[in-house]
Amino acid sequence: MLRAESIQKSFPTRGGELVVLREVSLTLEPGTTSVIMGPSGSGKSTLLNVLGTLEPPTAGRVLLDESDLFTLSERELALFRNRRIGFVFQDHHLLPQCSVLENVMIPTLADRANTNAAPRARHLLERVGLADRADHRPAELSGGERQRVALARALINRPALVLADEPTGNLDRRTAERVADLLVELHHEQQPILIVVTHSERLAGRFDQQFTLVDGTLAPR
Ligand code: ADP
Ligand code: MG
Repeated sequence: MLRAESIQKSFPTRGGELVVLREVSLTLEPGTTSVIMGPSGSGKSTLLNVLGTLEPPTAGRVLLDESDLFTLSERELALFRNRRIGFVFQDHHLLPQCSVLENVMIPTLADRANTNAAPRARHLLERVGLADRADHRPAELSGGERQRVALARALINRPALVLADEPTGNLDRRTAERVADLLVELHHEQQPILIVVTHSERLAGRFDQQFTLVDGTLAPR
C-alpha cells in the first residue's frame, strides 16, 4: 500500500516561498492504477518526485511497504527506491553509452545477489517487442522504442510502485497508443501500484482512479 499523508512542498524563490503542494493525502491499494491530470505547472511532476522519493516534501509523510520513507537514511532510501520504485519519464532517460540490455539492467546493478537480472531483462525486452534490439544503443531506436525500453527498465526489479510522468507526451498518437497498451498489459501481469501523469483523456480513461491536481491539492475527477 502507498500512503501519502498531508504532503506539502514549497520551493524557495527570489519572490519568496512558492507553495506547489499545499496538502496532498492519498492512499492507494496494491495493484491499483491511478492517473493525475492538471494544468501545466500545477505540480504533477513535483508530486511524483515526492512520492518516488526523488525529492523530500517540505512537510508530510510517504509510506510504502510499511516503511516511512523519508525517515530512512540517504543510503537506505536510495536502495529502497532502486528496489521498490520504477520510474518512466517523458524523456526516456536512457544512458546513451549503454546497450538496450544494459539500460534495462541498470536498476539491478546495486543488488549483487541478483543473478537473474540478465534473463529477466531479456524476457522484458521480449515482452515490449524489442528482443532483437538488445545490443543496440538508444540512439539507434525510435522514440516509441526508447519508451518501451524505459518501461522494461522500470519493471525489472518487480517494483511495488511505478510512476510514469507523461510517458507518451513526446510520441505521436499511434506510437503513444502502443506504449499505453504495453503499460496497461505489463501492469496487469505484475500488479504494482501504478500512477500515471498525462494530458491525454484517452490514456487517462484506461486507469481505475482519476485525480486532478488544482491549487496544490488532489481532487477526484
Ligand atoms: P507540472 O508537472 O504539473 O507541469 P511541476 O511540478 O513541474 O508542474 O512544477 C510546479 C511548479 O513548481 C512550477 O511553477 C515550477 O516552476 C515550480 N518548480 C518545480 N521545481 C522547482 C524547483 N526545483 N525550484 C523552484 N520551483 C520549482
Ligand atoms: Mg510535469
